[in-house]
Amino acid sequence: MPKKYVYFFGGGKAEGTAEMKNLLGGKGANLAEMTNIGLPVPPGFTITTEVCSYYYKHNQTYPKGLEEQVKKALAKVEKLVGRKFGDPKNPLLVSVRSGAPVSMPGMMDTILNLGLNDETVKGLIEQTKNERFAWDAYRRFVQMYGDVVLGLKPETKEEMDPFEVLIEKKKKARGVEHDVELTAEDLKELVYEFKELIKKRKGVDFPEDPWEQLWGAIGAVFRSWMNPRAVAYRKIYNISDDMGTAVNVQTMVFGNMGDDSGTGVAFTRNPATGENEFYGEFLMNAQGEDVVAGIRTPLPIEKLKEVMPNVYEQLLKVRQILESRLKDMQDIEFTIERGKLYMLQTRAGKRTGFAAVRIAVDMVEEGLITKEEALLRIEPDALNHLLRPIFDAKEKERAIKEGRLLAKGLPAGPGAATGRVVFHSEDAEEWARRGEKVILTRIETSPEDIRGMYAAEGILTSRGGMTSHAALVARQMGKVCVVGCGALDIDYAKKEIRVNGQVIKEGDYVSIDGSTGEVILGKITTKPSEVLQVLVEKTLDPENAPVYKQFEKLMKWADEVRRLRIRTNADLPKQAEIAVAFGAEGIGLTRTEHMFFEGDRIVSMRKMILADTKEERESALNELLPLQRQDFYGIFKVMGDRPVTIRTLDPPLHEFLPHTDEEIKEFSEKTGIPEEKIRRRISELKEFNPMLGFRGCRLGIVYPEITAMQTRAIIEAACDVAKEGIKVKPEIMIPLVGHVNELKNQEKIVREVAEKVMQEKGIRVEYSVGTMIEVPRAAITADEIATVAEFFSFGTNDLTQMGMGLSRDDYEKFIYKYLDLGIYDKDPFQTIDVKGVGELMRIGVEKGRLTRPDLKVGICGEHGGDPATIEFCHKIGLDYVSCSPYRVPIARLSAARAALLYDGFKKREMVKRTDRKAAKKVKATAKSKSKAKVNKR
Ligand code: PEP
Ligand code: MG
Repeated sequence: MPKKYVYFFGGGKAEGTAEMKNLLGGKGANLAEMTNIGLPVPPGFTITTEVCSYYYKHNQTYPKGLEEQVKKALAKVEKLVGRKFGDPKNPLLVSVRSGAPVSMPGMMDTILNLGLNDETVKGLIEQTKNERFAWDAYRRFVQMYGDVVLGLKPETKEEMDPFEVLIEKKKKARGVEHDVELTAEDLKELVYEFKELIKKRKGVDFPEDPWEQLWGAIGAVFRSWMNPRAVAYRKIYNISDDMGTAVNVQTMVFGNMGDDSGTGVAFTRNPATGENEFYGEFLMNAQGEDVVAGIRTPLPIEKLKEVMPNVYEQLLKVRQILESRLKDMQDIEFTIERGKLYMLQTRAGKRTGFAAVRIAVDMVEEGLITKEEALLRIEPDALNHLLRPIFDAKEKERAIKEGRLLAKGLPAGPGAATGRVVFHSEDAEEWARRGEKVILTRIETSPEDIRGMYAAEGILTSRGGMTSHAALVARQMGKVCVVGCGALDIDYAKKEIRVNGQVIKEGDYVSIDGSTGEVILGKITTKPSEVLQVLVEKTLDPENAPVYKQFEKLMKWADEVRRLRIRTNADLPKQAEIAVAFGAEGIGLTRTEHMFFEGDRIVSMRKMILADTKEERESALNELLPLQRQDFYGIFKVMGDRPVTIRTLDPPLHEFLPHTDEEIKEFSEKTGIPEEKIRRRISELKEFNPMLGFRGCRLGIVYPEITAMQTRAIIEAACDVAKEGIKVKPEIMIPLVGHVNELKNQEKIVREVAEKVMQEKGIRVEYSVGTMIEVPRAAITADEIATVAEFFSFGTNDLTQMGMGLSRDDYEKFIYKYLDLGIYDKDPFQTIDVKGVGELMRIGVEKGRLTRPDLKVGICGEHGGDPATIEFCHKIGLDYVSCSPYRVPIARLSAARAALLYDGFKKREMVKRTDRKAAKKVKATAKSKSKAKVNKR
């Protein structure tokens, strides 16, 4: 028997279920689920994602048996609705839509009203007794099919949509302003004009045979899986290309059959704030795409209560049933056809970080989901939204008083953004690449704009509602967004916005407030978020900070389940303080060299570098000693009994020397060192390949007095703090070690000096000596290195640089091309290259612990704050990750999710959700197992 490729749904029964998302796609699985629940779903069928994979593997052909199964399923639909596909008297019309396992809003293609031709259109007129409606449906179909299946695209950037050009022409000829004013005859003419245009530009006749139309549409949907915008979307959201899309073929229902018909999109909770309220929009006498595409600005859903109270009540019930069944906020699409409600789609709704946190926390409190499920619901990077700046209230008030408020739109994506106006997506990308902050300003956005939206600080549109493409995508990306700002007259050709008699040109600054919808001329300073005001600025009482309270709850739950410890990279006491406020449990990296750039310290540092003799060098180092001691003292005080890893000097020395003639002159005047000597030393220190040159532990080996001074400063400060009763835990870390002998050399100096200082100070502190693992040889010989090192910290910036042979300072010249071509999936300096650099890490951990089973291992490269890398670090058994202070909350959540995913939660997920008792038992076992693992270490 051939494999099952087609799953039917309709008449209260479906062959699929909500669990079958991988096979049926999200849309197909949920259509099946809604049918099974008994919600009013127009009948149809889903062609599985396996067919998509087959299609691509077999040169765009279909598996045997598919055609037969499609025919059978369509016959079942015909029977249920009492119409026939292609019947000139009583035609069945269908929609053909994509639906991947992971929702990708607007990225792929849809075709509506399929089945119409010059004959069946007559049947539709007969069925509906509405000639204008039928010709309008036909013209929409030809338009969509011409674009999606036959590939008729704009020929110039300005043309936008060649079919719309013809519509505009027709309206002009008829002397009317709106589409609705066109008559049946006008629309009929348009159908033939569209067909002619297709023939002219594409050289093909529009297919009249409904079966040819259907297979054309199915193929187009499968092909749209690989269209550039869908590929770009998947890259941004890390979705595998192998998943494939399903195709849903469903009976058409019409929202544009008159004033008792309509269509809408709604969320079961507010997708911007997460508030538990029904939230959505609808348009009477309209088709679905009118709402989603943002062409007409729709009405808020509460208004439906007045227009159609019965339908509104029904929708409220649907809202409640779907949430309790699917246990997540849903994004639904519905159509009302002559007073009857039909559900066309439900899926987990995209949301802002604010909403993600609030919904998850609320749902735990409502008993809908567990804390663990809540943690797995929130993408760690979504927490960025909660930390994002808001406008400085005073400055904004002033701007408004000065009359700089240009207009007000709909607040679609919260936060505050200031940037320069650009009108095209490619420009947004290009400007952002050269470091400009931009506001992508469009009449409306379309899926083609995804990359520009990603590059922009904020998105501003003159059309569209809260569920328009711009709004949906911006919220998901966490971009500030204002939509439907109708007062803006955006002129792409002139690259300007006209508003209230003012003209804003490309490159001018505007500020947009995504929480209020305000669009303001010029720059406005931003200020910290609520979370920051409570934790860092301490200017807001937590009791008055609802967003903070939800954030705090979530963080507490994360801390209960994570195994990885979270540290921070901090060079100054203030940074350490911020990190601790965010929950950092230690410092994973203090780069001592950063301190040398503070104030006048650079002078002593330069004297040290320019010294000709050991004595001269020691004298300069003596100037630096008290300054370093003071820094370390400050950091130890902030960190208390938390561990603090301090790294000895790392960068090439020339980085500290003056560069320009002016700087050289000034330094010479200040110190009395002749300019000539400075120049000579600069040229001596010049290297062809400084990152592989005289840096890292090589400095301390050639000039042992540097390591000695730094050790003295660390241990003296630690002793001073210990005398105040604080149990400090300094960890001295040697950089760029590739050979155990390098580490032995430096360790000897550290231990001798530390011992001496502790004797002088008359107090002992617990300290350890370890190394960074950032040279591939160190990872491979980790067993030898661990004979000396008490801890390892992966310096993945250098490990990536040396492991992949990629210059950290030059790779941006080609990385975009690499990412575009798919040579690399991700930027390897952001997310660890698991197969290569990750393997070096795995070897390092394994070999290191062979020698020293209790070896503490962490990561302090930039990857330490990246969720995917954190997951990997959990898997290979690291003890901690260290990241910049502002990423600490993201790291806490990532570590919790890693623990849930890899230490037993998967097993628990398999237990039926209703079987809470069994779930508890599995949870208890998982917990004791992960504890045992930790204890073993
Ligand atoms: C690293 O290489 O990952 C690291 C943390 O050191 P730096 O970035 O200072 O070279
Ligand atoms: Mg390094």
